[in-house]
Amino acid sequence: MSSWIEVHEGGGFLPVDALRPSELAPGMHRLGVHVVEDGAARPVHVPILVAKGAKPGPTVGITAAVHGNELNGIATIHRLFRRIDPNELSGTVVGVTIVNVPGFIRHDRLYPDAQDLNRIMPGKENGNEAAVYAHRLSTRLLGAFDVLLDLHTASFGRVNTLYVRADMKHEATAKLARAIGAEIIIHNAGADGTLRASVASRGVPAITVEIGDPQVIDRDKVRLTRVGIRDVLEELGMLPPDGERAVHGAIECHRSAWLFTDTGGLLDVTARLGARVKQGDVLATLCDPWGRKLRTYRAPEDGVIIGKATNPVVRTGGRIVHLGIEGAPS
Ligand SMILES: [Zn+2]
Repeated sequence: MSSWIEVHEGGGFLPVDALRPSELAPGMHRLGVHVVEDGAARPVHVPILVAKGAKPGPTVGITAAVHGNELNGIATIHRLFRRIDPNELSGTVVGVTIVNVPGFIRHDRLYPDAQDLNRIMPGKENGNEAAVYAHRLSTRLLGAFDVLLDLHTASFGRVNTLYVRADMKHEATAKLARAIGAEIIIHNAGADGTLRASVASRGVPAITVEIGDPQVIDRDKVRLTRVGIRDVLEELGMLPPDGERAVHGAIECHRSAWLFTDTGGLLDVTARLGARVKQGDVLATLCDPWGRKLRTYRAPEDGVIIGKATNPVVRTGGRIVHLGIEGAPS
C-alpha cells in the first residue's frame, strides 16, 4: 500500500427488512433497509444511521436525497451524527442518508425510470418501478417517525437561500420550522405526493429544508443546517444545549411563486439572493444575441428573493426569481 494512503476501518452495516427503532439497543447503529432488487438481482439497501438514546423520547427522522443528486443533506446527517452522544440523548434520531439510492448512483434527481419519487409518495404496492420503491419506503421506513425533516437542495441552474417549507398553520410544525434557523420560511401545506405530505398526513410535524445546490457539498450551508437540526433536537428536549446556536429570526412568507420570462434570450438577474424588494424594483433584464435589451422585469409586489436563476440562457417561460410574500398564513 502506498504511504500516502491511510486506510481507516469503515465498512459494514446491518441489513434489515424494515426500520424498527423500538427493537434496537441504546447506542449507534448502521443499518441498510432492504427495499428492492436491481437488474443484476442484487438487493438495494437504503443506508440508515440510528442514534438510539439511553432515555425515552420521540423518534425524529431526517431524510436526504429523495432526489438522488441532492447531496448536502447527506453530509449534514453524517456530521450531525458524529456529534450525537446516545448516552445524553432522549429518544431516537434516524438519519436516512440516501432515500433514492438508484438515482444517487446515477447522479440523477429522478428514479431510473424517470419518475420523481417526491411526487408519487406513498407509492403503490404492486406499482411500477418508482411506485413500488416509494411504497416500500413508506411501509418499511417512514412509519417509524414522530417528526420529519426532509432535506433537499435547489435544482441545476438556480440558487436558493437556506429555506424551509412548512405548514405554518400546524402549531408543532411551525415550531420546528422556526427552530432550525433558516433564512426564510414559506408556508406551504405540502403538495400531494411529496415525502413530507405523506408523513404529515399521519399528523406528524414535518418540514422540508432546502440546502444550496445539487451534486455538490457546500460546507458552509451544511454547517448551518447541522447546527440548526441540533437546535431542533434541543428544542424537542432530546439533547442538552451544545453551545452552538443557529441564527434565528427567519423571514416568514405566507406564499411564494416563481416569476417566468415571457420570451427567450440572455437573462441577467440583478436582484440579490435573500434581499427584500419593493414593488417596481428591477429584478432582471433580458437581451438578444446582439446585446439589445428586450425586457426589464420588475417586482410585481413587495417580497423577498428566495431563489434565482443562474443559467442566463433562457427560453420563453424560463425562471427568473422565486419571490416570497411576507406575512402570516390566513
Ligand atoms: Zn429535492
